[in-house]
Amino acid sequence: MIPAKAYAALDPKTPLQPFSFDRRDLRSDDVQVKIHFCGVCHSDIHQARDEWGGSIYPMVPGHEIIGEVIATGSEVTKFKTGDLVGVGVMVDSCCSCKNCNNDQEQYCNEGMTGTYNAMERDGVTIAQGGYSSQIVVKERFVLHISKKIDPAAAAPLLCAGITTYSPLRFAGVKAGQKVAVVGLGGLGHMGVKFAVSFGAEVTVISTSPGKAEDAKKLGAHHFLLSTDKAAMQKHASHFDVILDTVSANHDYTFLLDLLDIEGKLLIVGLPSKEPNLSPFSLITKRRSIIGSMIGGMKETQEMLDYCAEKNIVSDVEVIPVGYINEAYERMIRSDVKYRFVIDMATL
Ligand code: NAP
Ligand code: ZN
Repeated sequence: MIPAKAYAALDPKTPLQPFSFDRRDLRSDDVQVKIHFCGVCHSDIHQARDEWGGSIYPMVPGHEIIGEVIATGSEVTKFKTGDLVGVGVMVDSCCSCKNCNNDQEQYCNEGMTGTYNAMERDGVTIAQGGYSSQIVVKERFVLHISKKIDPAAAAPLLCAGITTYSPLRFAGVKAGQKVAVVGLGGLGHMGVKFAVSFGAEVTVISTSPGKAEDAKKLGAHHFLLSTDKAAMQKHASHFDVILDTVSANHDYTFLLDLLDIEGKLLIVGLPSKEPNLSPFSLITKRRSIIGSMIGGMKETQEMLDYCAEKNIVSDVEVIPVGYINEAYERMIRSDVKYRFVIDMATL
Protein backbone atom coordinates (compact mmCIF):
# COMPACT_ATOMS: atom_id res chain seq x y z
CA MET A 1 0.00 0.00 0.00
CA ILE A 2 1.05 3.59 -0.61
CA PRO A 3 0.74 5.94 2.38
CA ALA A 4 -0.99 9.27 1.61
CA LYS A 5 -1.58 12.43 3.62
CA ALA A 6 -4.83 14.35 3.26
CA TYR A 7 -7.55 16.56 4.71
CA ALA A 8 -10.81 14.74 5.40
CA ALA A 9 -14.34 15.18 6.66
CA LEU A 10 -14.96 12.61 9.37
CA ASP A 11 -18.68 13.40 9.66
CA PRO A 12 -21.11 16.02 8.28
CA LYS A 13 -20.73 18.43 11.19
CA THR A 14 -17.06 18.81 12.12
CA PRO A 15 -14.52 20.84 10.14
CA LEU A 16 -12.18 19.03 7.76
CA GLN A 17 -8.95 17.92 9.45
CA PRO A 18 -5.58 16.28 8.71
CA PHE A 19 -5.94 12.58 7.86
CA SER A 20 -3.68 9.70 6.82
CA PHE A 21 -4.66 6.65 4.76
CA ASP A 22 -3.32 4.23 2.15
CA ARG A 23 -3.71 4.29 -1.62
CA ARG A 24 -3.72 0.93 -3.43
CA ASP A 25 -0.55 -0.46 -4.97
CA LEU A 26 -0.45 0.10 -8.71
CA ARG A 27 -2.34 -2.32 -10.93
CA SER A 28 -1.02 -2.87 -14.45
CA ASP A 29 -3.26 -0.12 -15.91
CA ASP A 30 -2.78 2.41 -13.09
CA VAL A 31 -1.01 5.76 -13.00
CA GLN A 32 0.36 7.17 -9.72
CA VAL A 33 0.09 10.93 -9.48
CA LYS A 34 1.78 13.31 -7.04
CA ILE A 35 -0.87 16.00 -6.55
CA HIS A 36 0.25 19.62 -6.99
CA PHE A 37 -3.09 21.44 -6.97
CA CYS A 38 -6.73 20.63 -6.23
CA GLY A 39 -9.67 22.95 -6.93
CA VAL A 40 -12.51 23.35 -4.43
CA CYS A 41 -15.93 22.64 -5.96
CA HIS A 42 -19.28 23.38 -4.32
CA SER A 43 -19.99 19.65 -4.70
CA ASP A 44 -17.20 19.11 -2.13
CA ILE A 45 -19.25 21.10 0.37
CA HIS A 46 -22.56 19.42 -0.53
CA GLN A 47 -20.98 16.00 0.02
CA ALA A 48 -18.71 16.73 3.01
CA ARG A 49 -21.81 18.10 4.78
CA ASP A 50 -24.07 15.30 3.48
CA GLU A 51 -26.47 17.74 1.83
CA TRP A 52 -27.43 15.17 -0.84
CA GLY A 53 -27.69 12.24 1.63
CA GLY A 54 -25.73 8.97 1.66
CA SER A 55 -22.28 10.47 2.21
CA ILE A 56 -19.48 8.01 3.03
CA TYR A 57 -16.96 8.89 5.78
CA PRO A 58 -14.09 9.39 6.28
CA MET A 59 -14.19 11.51 3.10
CA VAL A 60 -11.24 13.14 1.37
CA PRO A 61 -12.97 15.53 -1.05
CA GLY A 62 -11.48 17.01 -4.21
CA HIS A 63 -12.04 16.25 -7.90
CA GLU A 64 -10.17 19.02 -9.69
CA ILE A 65 -6.73 17.45 -9.52
CA ILE A 66 -3.53 18.50 -11.27
CA GLY A 67 -0.31 16.64 -10.67
CA GLU A 68 2.69 14.86 -12.00
CA VAL A 69 3.02 11.20 -12.91
CA ILE A 70 5.48 9.51 -10.54
CA ALA A 71 4.93 5.85 -11.52
CA THR A 72 3.00 3.79 -14.05
CA GLY A 73 1.72 0.21 -14.19
CA SER A 74 3.28 -2.28 -16.62
CA GLU A 75 0.53 -1.92 -19.26
CA VAL A 76 0.21 1.87 -19.22
CA THR A 77 0.93 3.31 -22.66
CA LYS A 78 -0.37 6.89 -22.67
CA PHE A 79 1.58 8.32 -19.71
CA LYS A 80 5.14 8.36 -18.45
CA THR A 81 6.90 9.63 -15.35
CA GLY A 82 7.09 13.43 -15.30
CA ASP A 83 3.93 14.04 -17.38
CA LEU A 84 1.61 16.80 -16.17
CA VAL A 85 -1.84 15.24 -15.77
CA GLY A 86 -5.33 15.88 -14.51
CA VAL A 87 -7.95 13.78 -12.72
CA GLY A 88 -11.55 14.93 -12.55
CA VAL A 89 -14.85 13.79 -11.09
CA MET A 90 -14.68 10.08 -11.96
CA VAL A 91 -11.97 7.44 -11.59
CA ASP A 92 -13.69 4.37 -13.02
CA SER A 93 -16.76 2.96 -14.78
CA CYS A 94 -17.73 -0.46 -16.16
CA CYS A 95 -15.88 0.45 -19.40
CA SER A 96 -18.05 -1.95 -21.41
CA CYS A 97 -21.67 -0.70 -21.54
CA LYS A 98 -23.19 1.21 -24.43
CA ASN A 99 -22.49 4.59 -22.85
CA CYS A 100 -18.90 3.79 -21.87
CA ASN A 101 -18.27 2.48 -25.40
CA ASN A 102 -19.71 5.75 -26.66
CA ASP A 103 -17.21 7.86 -24.63
CA GLN A 104 -19.90 8.81 -22.12
CA GLU A 105 -18.40 7.11 -19.06
CA GLN A 106 -20.13 9.65 -16.81
CA TYR A 107 -23.44 8.04 -17.80
CA CYS A 108 -22.17 4.44 -17.35
CA ASN A 109 -25.16 2.11 -17.02
CA GLU A 110 -23.62 0.56 -13.92
CA GLY A 111 -22.89 4.01 -12.51
CA MET A 112 -19.54 5.75 -12.75
CA THR A 113 -17.17 5.61 -9.79
CA GLY A 114 -16.79 9.06 -8.28
CA THR A 115 -13.32 10.28 -7.36
CA TYR A 116 -14.46 10.43 -3.71
CA ASN A 117 -17.58 9.73 -1.65
CA ALA A 118 -17.94 6.49 -3.60
CA MET A 119 -17.02 2.83 -3.27
CA GLU A 120 -14.37 1.58 -5.67
CA ARG A 121 -15.52 -1.20 -8.00
CA ASP A 122 -13.93 -3.81 -5.67
CA GLY A 123 -16.86 -3.02 -3.36
CA VAL A 124 -14.70 -2.59 -0.25
CA THR A 125 -12.39 0.40 -0.76
CA ILE A 126 -13.64 3.95 -0.26
CA ALA A 127 -12.51 6.16 -3.15
CA GLN A 128 -10.67 9.20 -1.77
CA GLY A 129 -10.17 12.48 -3.58
CA GLY A 130 -7.66 15.16 -4.29
CA TYR A 131 -7.17 17.05 -1.01
CA SER A 132 -4.26 14.65 -0.63
CA SER A 133 -0.62 14.13 -1.44
CA GLN A 134 -1.16 11.57 -4.20
CA ILE A 135 -3.67 9.43 -6.02
CA VAL A 136 -3.65 6.16 -7.98
CA VAL A 137 -6.00 6.14 -10.99
CA LYS A 138 -6.80 3.84 -13.91
CA GLU A 139 -5.13 5.19 -17.08
CA ARG A 140 -8.44 5.71 -18.94
CA PHE A 141 -9.48 8.30 -16.32
CA VAL A 142 -6.27 10.34 -16.42
CA LEU A 143 -5.94 13.38 -18.71
CA HIS A 144 -3.03 15.13 -20.40
CA ILE A 145 -2.47 18.74 -19.32
CA SER A 146 -0.54 21.08 -21.58
CA LYS A 147 2.53 22.64 -19.98
CA LYS A 148 1.50 25.86 -21.76
CA ILE A 149 -1.16 26.66 -19.14
CA ASP A 150 -0.81 27.63 -15.48
CA PRO A 151 -1.37 24.36 -13.58
CA ALA A 152 -3.13 25.97 -10.59
CA ALA A 153 -5.55 27.82 -12.87
CA ALA A 154 -6.07 24.68 -14.95
CA ALA A 155 -7.22 22.56 -11.97
CA PRO A 156 -10.85 23.81 -12.05
CA LEU A 157 -11.13 22.80 -15.72
CA LEU A 158 -11.38 19.20 -14.50
CA CYS A 159 -14.85 19.81 -13.05
CA ALA A 160 -16.07 23.41 -13.43
CA GLY A 161 -14.62 23.49 -16.95
CA ILE A 162 -16.01 20.28 -18.40
CA THR A 163 -19.34 20.62 -16.56
CA THR A 164 -20.05 23.88 -18.40
CA TYR A 165 -18.29 23.08 -21.71
CA SER A 166 -20.19 19.85 -22.30
CA PRO A 167 -23.81 21.14 -22.05
CA LEU A 168 -22.99 24.31 -24.01
CA ARG A 169 -21.56 22.11 -26.79
CA PHE A 170 -24.51 19.71 -26.54
CA ALA A 171 -26.92 22.64 -26.91
CA GLY A 172 -25.00 23.74 -30.00
CA VAL A 173 -24.19 27.21 -28.67
CA LYS A 174 -22.77 29.34 -31.47
CA ALA A 175 -22.30 32.87 -32.74
CA GLY A 176 -25.42 35.00 -32.73
CA GLN A 177 -27.17 33.09 -29.93
CA LYS A 178 -28.26 34.72 -26.71
CA VAL A 179 -26.95 32.75 -23.74
CA ALA A 180 -27.52 33.46 -20.04
CA VAL A 181 -25.35 32.04 -17.29
CA VAL A 182 -27.09 31.95 -13.91
CA GLY A 183 -24.83 32.13 -10.83
CA LEU A 184 -21.36 33.58 -11.20
CA GLY A 185 -19.34 31.12 -9.15
CA GLY A 186 -16.78 28.48 -10.08
CA LEU A 187 -18.94 26.82 -12.74
CA GLY A 188 -20.61 30.05 -13.82
CA HIS A 189 -17.44 31.95 -14.59
CA MET A 190 -16.19 29.08 -16.76
CA GLY A 191 -19.59 28.94 -18.48
CA VAL A 192 -19.21 32.63 -19.34
CA LYS A 193 -15.71 32.10 -20.75
CA PHE A 194 -16.80 29.16 -22.92
CA ALA A 195 -20.05 30.76 -24.17
CA VAL A 196 -18.10 33.92 -25.09
CA SER A 197 -15.43 31.86 -26.85
CA PHE A 198 -18.16 30.08 -28.88
CA GLY A 199 -19.28 33.50 -30.11
CA ALA A 200 -22.55 33.86 -28.16
CA GLU A 201 -23.98 37.09 -26.74
CA VAL A 202 -23.65 36.36 -23.04
CA THR A 203 -25.63 37.67 -20.07
CA VAL A 204 -24.81 36.91 -16.45
CA ILE A 205 -27.81 36.56 -14.12
CA SER A 206 -26.63 36.95 -10.55
CA THR A 207 -27.81 37.65 -7.02
CA SER A 208 -24.62 39.64 -6.31
CA PRO A 209 -24.58 43.29 -7.48
CA GLY A 210 -20.84 43.41 -6.77
CA LYS A 211 -20.14 40.94 -9.61
CA ALA A 212 -21.30 43.21 -12.48
CA GLU A 213 -17.80 44.53 -13.18
CA ASP A 214 -16.28 41.05 -13.05
CA ALA A 215 -18.91 39.68 -15.43
CA LYS A 216 -17.78 42.23 -18.02
CA LYS A 217 -14.10 41.45 -17.38
CA LEU A 218 -14.85 37.77 -17.96
CA GLY A 219 -16.25 38.70 -21.36
CA ALA A 220 -20.00 38.83 -20.67
CA HIS A 221 -21.90 41.43 -22.65
CA HIS A 222 -24.69 42.06 -20.14
CA PHE A 223 -25.37 41.69 -16.42
CA LEU A 224 -28.77 41.19 -14.80
CA LEU A 225 -29.52 41.25 -11.10
CA SER A 226 -32.03 38.47 -10.51
CA THR A 227 -33.66 40.47 -7.72
CA ASP A 228 -34.41 43.37 -10.12
CA LYS A 229 -37.92 42.31 -11.10
CA ALA A 230 -38.39 45.00 -13.76
CA ALA A 231 -35.14 44.19 -15.53
CA MET A 232 -35.94 40.48 -15.43
CA GLN A 233 -39.44 41.11 -16.80
CA LYS A 234 -37.91 42.87 -19.80
CA HIS A 235 -36.01 39.68 -20.63
CA ALA A 236 -39.04 37.40 -20.82
CA SER A 237 -38.76 35.00 -23.81
CA HIS A 238 -35.33 36.47 -24.61
CA PHE A 239 -32.64 33.78 -24.39
CA ASP A 240 -31.86 30.78 -26.61
CA VAL A 241 -29.96 28.96 -23.89
CA ILE A 242 -29.73 29.38 -20.12
CA LEU A 243 -27.01 27.60 -18.13
CA ASP A 244 -28.09 27.25 -14.50
CA THR A 245 -25.13 26.76 -12.15
CA VAL A 246 -26.83 27.79 -8.91
CA SER A 247 -25.88 25.73 -5.86
CA ALA A 248 -28.79 26.83 -3.62
CA ASN A 249 -32.52 26.08 -3.86
CA HIS A 250 -34.21 28.39 -6.35
CA ASP A 251 -37.08 28.75 -8.81
CA TYR A 252 -36.74 27.05 -12.23
CA THR A 253 -40.03 28.34 -13.66
CA PHE A 254 -38.71 31.88 -13.36
CA LEU A 255 -35.77 30.88 -15.60
CA LEU A 256 -37.92 28.97 -18.11
CA ASP A 257 -39.98 32.11 -18.71
CA LEU A 258 -36.81 33.90 -19.84
CA LEU A 259 -36.37 31.44 -22.73
CA ASP A 260 -37.40 32.17 -26.31
CA ILE A 261 -39.24 29.60 -28.44
CA GLU A 262 -37.52 26.18 -28.24
CA GLY A 263 -35.09 27.61 -25.74
CA LYS A 264 -33.05 25.24 -23.61
CA LEU A 265 -32.55 25.41 -19.85
CA LEU A 266 -29.33 23.54 -19.07
CA ILE A 267 -29.25 22.40 -15.45
CA VAL A 268 -25.88 21.70 -13.86
CA GLY A 269 -26.29 23.22 -10.37
CA LEU A 270 -27.39 20.68 -7.76
CA PRO A 271 -29.38 22.18 -4.90
CA SER A 272 -30.73 19.67 -2.41
CA LYS A 273 -34.45 20.45 -2.77
CA GLU A 274 -36.61 19.39 -5.71
CA PRO A 275 -37.82 22.52 -7.49
CA ASN A 276 -41.39 23.50 -8.33
CA LEU A 277 -41.91 23.61 -12.06
CA SER A 278 -44.83 24.89 -14.13
CA PRO A 279 -45.67 22.71 -17.17
CA PHE A 280 -47.23 25.83 -18.71
CA SER A 281 -43.83 27.48 -18.88
CA LEU A 282 -42.58 24.45 -20.80
CA ILE A 283 -45.40 23.98 -23.29
CA THR A 284 -46.17 27.58 -24.21
CA LYS A 285 -42.92 27.96 -26.16
CA ARG A 286 -41.84 24.31 -26.59
CA ARG A 287 -39.01 24.93 -24.17
CA SER A 288 -36.91 22.12 -22.76
CA ILE A 289 -34.87 21.36 -19.68
CA ILE A 290 -31.65 19.41 -20.12
CA GLY A 291 -29.59 18.05 -17.24
CA SER A 292 -25.90 17.44 -17.68
CA MET A 293 -23.23 15.78 -15.56
CA ILE A 294 -19.54 16.60 -16.15
CA GLY A 295 -18.41 15.08 -19.51
CA GLY A 296 -16.84 11.88 -20.82
CA MET A 297 -13.07 11.37 -20.88
CA LYS A 298 -12.78 12.04 -24.61
CA GLU A 299 -14.72 15.29 -24.39
CA THR A 300 -12.80 16.33 -21.27
CA GLN A 301 -9.49 15.92 -23.13
CA GLU A 302 -10.97 17.87 -26.06
CA MET A 303 -11.98 20.66 -23.65
CA LEU A 304 -8.50 20.71 -22.06
CA ASP A 305 -6.86 20.94 -25.48
CA TYR A 306 -9.30 23.69 -26.50
CA CYS A 307 -8.41 25.62 -23.32
CA ALA A 308 -4.67 25.25 -23.95
CA GLU A 309 -5.14 26.49 -27.52
CA LYS A 310 -7.35 29.46 -26.54
CA ASN A 311 -5.58 30.13 -23.26
CA ILE A 312 -8.75 29.64 -21.22
CA VAL A 313 -8.21 28.93 -17.53
CA SER A 314 -10.04 29.59 -14.30
CA ASP A 315 -9.67 32.75 -12.19
CA VAL A 316 -8.29 31.31 -8.97
CA GLU A 317 -7.35 32.15 -5.40
CA VAL A 318 -4.62 29.71 -4.38
CA ILE A 319 -4.88 28.72 -0.70
CA PRO A 320 -2.97 26.55 1.78
CA VAL A 321 -4.82 23.36 2.73
CA GLY A 322 -5.29 24.59 6.32
CA TYR A 323 -7.58 27.33 4.97
CA ILE A 324 -10.12 24.86 3.58
CA ASN A 325 -12.83 25.31 6.22
CA GLU A 326 -12.73 29.10 5.86
CA ALA A 327 -12.81 28.65 2.07
CA TYR A 328 -16.02 26.60 2.38
CA GLU A 329 -17.66 29.37 4.43
CA ARG A 330 -16.62 32.00 1.91
CA MET A 331 -17.98 29.93 -1.00
CA ILE A 332 -21.33 29.64 0.73
CA ARG A 333 -21.33 33.46 1.05
CA SER A 334 -20.53 33.65 -2.74
CA ASP A 335 -17.24 35.29 -1.74
CA VAL A 336 -14.72 33.72 -4.11
CA LYS A 337 -13.22 34.99 -7.35
CA TYR A 338 -13.87 32.53 -8.77
CA ARG A 339 -12.38 29.26 -7.60
CA PHE A 340 -10.28 28.31 -4.60
CA VAL A 341 -7.42 26.02 -5.51
CA ILE A 342 -5.40 24.26 -2.81
CA ASP A 343 -1.63 24.25 -3.15
CA MET A 344 -0.89 20.68 -2.06
CA ALA A 345 2.71 21.52 -1.23
CA THR A 346 1.22 23.05 1.96
CA LEU A 347 -0.05 19.67 3.18
P1 NAP B 1 -20.12 28.18 -6.34
O1 NAP B 1 -18.77 28.53 -6.82
O2 NAP B 1 -20.42 28.25 -4.90
O3 NAP B 1 -21.15 29.07 -7.19
C1 NAP B 1 -22.54 28.96 -7.03
C2 NAP B 1 -23.16 30.29 -7.37
O4 NAP B 1 -24.58 30.19 -7.19
C3 NAP B 1 -22.77 31.43 -6.45
O5 NAP B 1 -21.57 32.05 -6.81
C4 NAP B 1 -23.93 32.39 -6.59
O6 NAP B 1 -23.75 33.21 -7.74
C5 NAP B 1 -25.11 31.46 -6.87
N1 NAP B 1 -25.93 31.35 -5.66
C6 NAP B 1 -25.55 30.96 -4.42
N2 NAP B 1 -26.57 30.98 -3.57
C7 NAP B 1 -27.65 31.38 -4.29
C8 NAP B 1 -29.02 31.59 -4.00
N3 NAP B 1 -29.49 31.38 -2.76
N4 NAP B 1 -29.85 31.97 -4.99
C9 NAP B 1 -29.39 32.18 -6.23
N5 NAP B 1 -28.09 32.01 -6.58
C10 NAP B 1 -27.25 31.61 -5.62
O7 NAP B 1 -20.49 26.68 -6.77
P2 NAP B 1 -19.93 25.80 -8.00
O8 NAP B 1 -18.74 25.05 -7.56
O9 NAP B 1 -19.89 26.64 -9.20
O10 NAP B 1 -21.10 24.72 -8.14
C11 NAP B 1 -22.41 25.10 -8.51
C12 NAP B 1 -23.37 23.93 -8.43
O11 NAP B 1 -23.06 23.00 -9.48
C13 NAP B 1 -23.28 23.13 -7.13
O12 NAP B 1 -24.59 22.78 -6.74
C14 NAP B 1 -22.49 21.90 -7.54
O13 NAP B 1 -22.74 20.80 -6.72
C15 NAP B 1 -22.98 21.70 -8.93
N6 NAP B 1 -22.10 20.88 -9.79
C16 NAP B 1 -22.67 20.09 -10.72
C17 NAP B 1 -21.89 19.34 -11.58
C18 NAP B 1 -22.51 18.53 -12.65
O14 NAP B 1 -21.85 17.63 -13.18
N7 NAP B 1 -23.74 18.80 -13.04
C19 NAP B 1 -20.50 19.42 -11.47
C20 NAP B 1 -19.95 20.26 -10.53
C21 NAP B 1 -20.75 20.99 -9.69
P3 NAP B 1 -24.19 34.76 -7.72
O15 NAP B 1 -23.42 35.38 -6.60
O16 NAP B 1 -23.75 35.22 -9.06
O17 NAP B 1 -25.67 34.80 -7.55
ZN1 ZN C 1 -17.10 19.57 -9.00
